[in-house]
Amino acid sequence: MLKRTDPYVPGEQLEGQILKLNTNENPYPPSPSVLNAISNEMKHNLQLYPSPTVEQLREVIARASNTSLKKENVFIGNGSDEVLAFSFMAFFEPGKTIRFPEVTYSFYPVYSKLFNISYEEISLNRDFTIPVERFFQSEGGVIFPNPNAPTSLFLSINKIEEIVQQNQDNVVIIDEAYIDFAQESAVSLLNKYDNLLIIQTTSKSRSLAGLRVGYALGHPDLIEGLTRIKDSFNSYTIDRLAIAGAQAAFEDKDYHQETIEKILKTREWVSIELKQLGFQVLPSQANFLFVSHYSLSAKSLYQALKLENILVRHFNKAPIDNYLRITIGKDNDMMELMKTIAKILIKQV
Ligand code: PMP
Repeated sequence: MLKRTDPYVPGEQLEGQILKLNTNENPYPPSPSVLNAISNEMKHNLQLYPSPTVEQLREVIARASNTSLKKENVFIGNGSDEVLAFSFMAFFEPGKTIRFPEVTYSFYPVYSKLFNISYEEISLNRDFTIPVERFFQSEGGVIFPNPNAPTSLFLSINKIEEIVQQNQDNVVIIDEAYIDFAQESAVSLLNKYDNLLIIQTTSKSRSLAGLRVGYALGHPDLIEGLTRIKDSFNSYTIDRLAIAGAQAAFEDKDYHQETIEKILKTREWVSIELKQLGFQVLPSQANFLFVSHYSLSAKSLYQALKLENILVRHFNKAPIDNYLRITIGKDNDMMELMKTIAKILIKQV
């Protein structure tokens, strides 16, 4: 009946004692102040509707993102997946072809098909970097993650600025789901460009994947466009527990910074050890690694790890079918992964 539906398939979930390194979740729990804020809200306010406009949280996010942003520059949604869906509806039009990389977040083609938006998948360079010029002068707009997923590679802000400048009549959406593990966000460009929309999430660096809070940052006209779409579906934005928890997470800056630093340290030693085991490891600026082994195929390694109760992500699709995406877990988890990979490699010879 619904001809255009071709849904997104999330990473596998298995029951039991599984080391889950396949969906880029944060291995650390959220800040203790998040739990306090949520339990307070549960005790006192659940009988009340939440704020439809979420002004206070938008203000907190604006301040945390860039000193010159205001709540009018912030739109909040139920996870960045919902913000992405609303953005496709608000800014991309049927009949005008949009562009995104061939290797990218697999929800983009799903939304394009669902909303009847034609799209061109731009092949990446051989080293999986983004061919910047190929995104100039698009017919209907541009979207890609930075760092890109699943490649983990970061595109410099100067290059993003060139793409934004070369698409003056269209919206350029930069999906910064993993930006807190990278060098620099493109938010500084928002003062100069009204056609740039940045989408971020509390699911990764703030450990709130289960709470579902994502947001967009951009010119008030773009935020207004997103709000009109949202209001056509739901008077409310997110629930009271999500508002309270997300706000507490933004307010505990030290906890956020410590969690990021732990993950970056783990990313560094794991990258080095994987290279020593014969892997090509792309220079990641995210909370995951994109790797390929010189002798063992990605598919066999994925299957062998699964037999050992370790889940990583394998994409059965060229040109990345010989790569695995591995989420950075706690140090102990990663030591177990290393030991298991070493054991699997020994069995091969
Ligand atoms: N964008 C990218 C590139 C992602 O990898 C993800 C997580 N799967 C999301 C957006 C969605 O994140 P969430 O809906 O949890 O905010």
